[in-house]
Amino acid sequence: MATRCEGWRRRGGTFTLGPVTWEQCDNNAIVNLTVVQEKEETLPACKVCWQEAIDKGITIKSAIPLKEVKSGKK
Ligand SMILES: [Zn+2]
Repeated sequence: MATRCEGWRRRGGTFTLGPVTWEQCDNNAIVNLTVVQEKEETLPACKVCWQEAIDKGITIKSAIPLKEVKSGKK
């Protein structure tokens, strides 16, 4: 099984009515990011969320690529 990205993105907000909800990213993680926000934490992330973290100016302490997951046989 591939590791799922643990990035969360905001749905709604400025251009939609109703409450803002958070949705977990559907991509497979390619990297383990150690980020420092309120506290330091390590989570699997995909390329998109990694780039987003960089764009948001989040402090990334380390980024360790995950091993390729071979698909096929379970
Ligand atoms: Zn993601």
